[in-house]
Amino acid sequence: MSPRLFWKLFLIFSALQLATVIAFVVLVSKWQAQQTYAQKEKRLSDAASIVRGHVDVDFESDIRDEHQQLVDQLAEETDMRVTLVKTNGVVLADSEKAAELMENHKDRAELVLAATEGFGSSQRFSNTVKMSMLYYAARIENSVGVPKGYVRVAVPLAEVEAEVTEIERTMWLVALGVSLCGLLLNYVVIGRALRPVDTLTLAANAMAAGEYQERVAVESRDELGALAQSFNRMGGEIEAREGQMREVVDRMSAVLGGMIEGVFAVDDEQRILFANEAAGKLLNFRPEVAQGKKFSSIIENETLRRVARDTIKEPGGKLIRQVEFKNGPTEIVLAVNGAKLPGEPCPGIVVVLHDVSELRRLERLRQEFVANVSHELKTPLSAIIAYAETLRHGAMRDPEHSELFIQRIEEQASRLAELIQDMLQLARIEASQVPYEISIVEIGDVVSACLAAHETNAEQKGIKLVSQKKLRDICLPADEEALRQILNNLVTNAIKYTPKGGRVKINWRLEGSEIAIRVRDNGIGIPEEHHHRIFERFYRVDKARSREMGGTGLGLAIVKHLTQMLGGTVALQSAPGEGSTFEVRFPLAEKSGIPAEIAS
Ligand code: ADP
Repeated sequence: MSPRLFWKLFLIFSALQLATVIAFVVLVSKWQAQQTYAQKEKRLSDAASIVRGHVDVDFESDIRDEHQQLVDQLAEETDMRVTLVKTNGVVLADSEKAAELMENHKDRAELVLAATEGFGSSQRFSNTVKMSMLYYAARIENSVGVPKGYVRVAVPLAEVEAEVTEIERTMWLVALGVSLCGLLLNYVVIGRALRPVDTLTLAANAMAAGEYQERVAVESRDELGALAQSFNRMGGEIEAREGQMREVVDRMSAVLGGMIEGVFAVDDEQRILFANEAAGKLLNFRPEVAQGKKFSSIIENETLRRVARDTIKEPGGKLIRQVEFKNGPTEIVLAVNGAKLPGEPCPGIVVVLHDVSELRRLERLRQEFVANVSHELKTPLSAIIAYAETLRHGAMRDPEHSELFIQRIEEQASRLAELIQDMLQLARIEASQVPYEISIVEIGDVVSACLAAHETNAEQKGIKLVSQKKLRDICLPADEEALRQILNNLVTNAIKYTPKGGRVKINWRLEGSEIAIRVRDNGIGIPEEHHHRIFERFYRVDKARSREMGGTGLGLAIVKHLTQMLGGTVALQSAPGEGSTFEVRFPLAEKSGIPAEIAS
């Protein structure tokens, strides 16, 4: 029920009804009173006429008993007060009081009127009987029409008033009954008339709360019925639109959720409207929790906060910035594009985050690489130029020195060649240009060949080369040349960085579904802090020492790339003074497509 509207209508209708009833009762009772008085007067006039016909007494004489007997008799018959008055106003007889005791009635209104008109009436207080009376007087004339006196009849006014009051009371009682019935009828009728409004209100509230399937069942054929039908049509329309909107939103969410770029939107009060998964990952927050919260309470980065704040004020509606911050140990670089959302006034902004950390890293690597290459090439080239100049300036004629300088030029040139060869090989591996031939390689054979190739070198340095005893054949699906190169580089390094009297050992074995090959030395070892960078190009623990040993700084980078190309991994265990162990692991059959049984 709609209480306010109901009571408003109820009070208005009831007030109108009551006013009508009261006005009616007042008017009718007034009219009724007039009618009652008129009737009473008529009775008095009739009675006066009758009484006049019976009054056959001498009006000239003094007060006599016969007069008194006549008025008493007439009073009894008419049930009224009867008075006989002379033309001079002297009372001859009165049915209520002794005539001698009564004063002259000449100036009484009814008698004054009767003197001129023949009849006269009045209402007033009677001093004789001490109450208000209704009087009616008639003139009595002799046979020639000369007035003899007056006869007057009267009734107490209270009698008439009581009659009027009784009728009024009855009328008010009826009016009260009618009004009560009217109020009840109003209550019921207005309540029933407003019921559809209630139904519509409830349905509209439900719809406002998102229950778009809500409909109303109002069957009446009036305006409310038409309104209900319109409401139901509107509900259907909204439901359909809502469905379409949801589809669009779902699609958009799916698109935004699948994007690699982080996307979030904030409203004009800096509250997060939406954020996709990628944005959460990049900025380290949970999108579902962040929704509706202040941007500044979720994001600490000042540049991002400024983008969120300032884009809305940008005349062009766009803002592009680069943000750098640390997420744990990783450095993140984001290209941030802020744009205003359409609408006037602007409802907020949308920000797209593009993770360019990898691009930045690659760019840095490229720059480092160029610098390293230039540096690596510069050293032997400078040496070659210096030796050539020295020769040209006279050393050529000194056979002992010229021989030495030419030898040095040869050494630097072959170092250059080695460097360029290593670089080219690395570039080819990285570009996957090397044609590899995967075949079943017996590891024992490759190890033996590798050790044989390094024997002389090791002997010269006084280093013992050891291989594990060949218990049984272990075969690996791999490119033999690549595997040989990996082992060569590792053994070369092991010999290079192990002092005289040291030992280099190679062993291999099956571990689960992998083959692990280890090259172990008891040389100088590598401090822990270099482990994570040791496989980078041109990375060396001790640059001078490496160069002195003829290293290019590319050996381990080649090992890493070749191993990865064969689907394997490389790891290092080392500590200064305790030697180093390089371990390469290759998967057996699954990845290579060769059954495991063949492998052993
Ligand atoms: P290089 O040509 O300088 O040997 P590598 O890429 O082969 O270049 O090795 C990178 C660096 O790793 C070397 O300069 C050296 O400092 C360190 N290193 C490699 N192998 C060993 C090892 N077995 N023992 C100690 N240090 C090693």
